[in-house]
Amino acid sequence: MEKTWEQLEEYQPMVLKMVGNSLKKERVAHAYLFEGSRGTGKKEVAFLLAKSLFCTNKQDYRPCNDCVNCRRISSGNHPDIHMIEPDGQSIKKGQIQALQEEFSKTGVESNRKIYIINHADKMTANAANSLLKFLEEPSSQTVAILVTEQIHRILNTILSRCQVLSFKPLLPKVISEQLVNEGISTTIASLIANTTNNLEEARRLSTDAWFGQCRSIVLQLYEVLNTRPADAFFVIQDKWLQHFKEKDQLSFGLDILLLVYKDLLYIQLGDEESIIFHDQVVKFKQYALQTSSRRISDQITAIFEAKRRLHTNMNPHLLMEQLVIKLQEGLKLV
Ligand SMILES: [Zn+2]
Repeated sequence: MEKTWEQLEEYQPMVLKMVGNSLKKERVAHAYLFEGSRGTGKKEVAFLLAKSLFCTNKQDYRPCNDCVNCRRISSGNHPDIHMIEPDGQSIKKGQIQALQEEFSKTGVESNRKIYIINHADKMTANAANSLLKFLEEPSSQTVAILVTEQIHRILNTILSRCQVLSFKPLLPKVISEQLVNEGISTTIASLIANTTNNLEEARRLSTDAWFGQCRSIVLQLYEVLNTRPADAFFVIQDKWLQHFKEKDQLSFGLDILLLVYKDLLYIQLGDEESIIFHDQVVKFKQYALQTSSRRISDQITAIFEAKRRLHTNMNPHLLMEQLVIKLQEGLKLV
């Protein structure tokens, strides 16, 4: 499904505002650089901008997503839009030269032509120099859109000829809503949205069996810490370390545990909107309301400390045992 202007506006309000303004004033730049991390909508906005320029049924400056031109752009079949992707590891000089040759002809259907260079940071030095010449002699009808996740690798000479638009990581709320729209339950969606700000990664997690179990193991550890502390070592040994085997997995488990303690803090602060484990609120309240916020922040600190130690290559077993002891310290048994 192609995203509409309004949908992409939710992802990247600032970017869409700037693109919208230049369309409105008919001051579209000759060259843009869309930069930001993976899954932030850069390519989608590039196609949306292309549609705005070619749509035959625009509403104001927003494309209809339905006319022949819009549909051809969606399917990658518009003759005046060229997309360059790395050929293997890099974008080569020949690819840029072929593009220049193509663009020296007039447009197939109009004089307007757009080229999108995806992963522009992968241009070889020769390719970048070829492109530079191209950017230095802009034709009034040509729009270049360079897309990159690594702006620090783009030559300054190219940067200075582009209007740079920065794509921000998506807010948890946006990711969560998107997942719920795609049929994921609210409880899982809000957890995923708080572990990644990359929508593609979020979608991958939503179908990942390993991730599916993370939540229940973390909640199990939390539960046992509060109700049967003597069993905590057993859960660590038998469940936690069996599931969170690799270092990055363990780190991920600790991140989720952190979210549990943050929820406790939100409950204490009366900030129910921020709660992630919606379905656990009743249980969490029992504990949160009988402890102090000082104590919860100590527990949060202990989890951060465990994460830090993980990166000093401490033995995972020992690390988790020490964490469990810390989390239990001062626990009031009622
Ligand atoms: Zn259209």
